[in-house]
Amino acid sequence: MTMVLNLRSASRTKTRSIRSAADIIRSGGIVVFPTETVYGIGASAFNEDACRKIYRIKGRAPDNPLIVHVSSMKMAKSVGDIPARYSRILSHEWPGPLTVVVKAKESVPKTVTGGLRTVAMRMPDNSIALELIKRSGVPIAAPSANISKRPSSTDATNAKRYFMGKVDAIIDSGSTEIGIESTVLRLSDLSILRPGSYTPEHVREAFGRWPKMAFASKGVSRPPSPGMKYRHYSPEKPIYLFIGDIGRLPSIIKRSGSSGKFTFIGSKESCAAMKSCSAGVLDLGNRSRPHEIAHNLFSALIALDSKKSKFGIIESFDESGIGIAIMNRIRKACSNKYFSDEKGFCNLIEG
Ligand code: AMP
Ligand code: MG
Repeated sequence: MTMVLNLRSASRTKTRSIRSAADIIRSGGIVVFPTETVYGIGASAFNEDACRKIYRIKGRAPDNPLIVHVSSMKMAKSVGDIPARYSRILSHEWPGPLTVVVKAKESVPKTVTGGLRTVAMRMPDNSIALELIKRSGVPIAAPSANISKRPSSTDATNAKRYFMGKVDAIIDSGSTEIGIESTVLRLSDLSILRPGSYTPEHVREAFGRWPKMAFASKGVSRPPSPGMKYRHYSPEKPIYLFIGDIGRLPSIIKRSGSSGKFTFIGSKESCAAMKSCSAGVLDLGNRSRPHEIAHNLFSALIALDSKKSKFGIIESFDESGIGIAIMNRIRKACSNKYFSDEKGFCNLIEG
């Protein structure tokens, strides 16, 4: 049975609820909890059986390692070797949406690291998550709270849909602040393995140099981060990325006779223009506010599956700052399906 702990408003039972969740973690159970990025599905990082259960529940490939969540620098140093020159920087940048990959301590089970000698860890900037880790007294290994390949949960309603009856507890604190997963940064060569809301500019500011963009490398036989080789974030319905002048999309649609056959996902501005020629729209927010787009992206991808239309079309966004992470998630959600105003819309319909 899954216990649902409602912490959506400041409640008098908050401490008691977090204490119960921490008891579950300590005794080898699984708890779904909020972070500032997305919800996580967590277990004690030192309990191999419990961590194995996370892989089973998510349907996650065994070589796709888990991120370990810590509540203090001391705890972080019990999980991995943080190079001395980065210790002060991390004390400053944490808590936050920055995951670092470092050499793992012997005590970290291979199940957590997916068999690698390195471990990924971060300190989440969410008071419930931090309190849960502190009270558990152990680091918590927690991948994103989604069934493998599906979009991550940014609210508890969706986390319940994925995990009710499969985990011991779900902490419901409403929707998460950021909406896309943390940036994964390998410290040994300052490489971003997965883009997130902690942007290359943030790395440059805090670490004193620009990071390498390892996530962008194509066709490598061994990807630097195991998660890179798996399909991700996809709704069940096909979704196509529109590349081109978004202003021309309504006329392309009308010309091709495809009006009313798809759901459009995009900025508030584009949704207004697409209303008349789509079966419906999912509004991601103001185009000039990319953090709003990031915040709404996964819930829109999930909402696509409950629409009547057979497929979705999603807008491209400016690839700078957090836009790099937004486009990374969108491309994966589309599994390389796209169409452009140059190639025309017919290819899409046949696809
Ligand atoms: P998730 O927790 O579901 O957001 O995914 C964790 C991401 O971190 C995946 O893309 C993993 O491949 C990546 N990751 C975790 N541990 C490591 C590691 N030791 N080396 C490289 N990437 C890692
Ligand atoms: Mg994930």
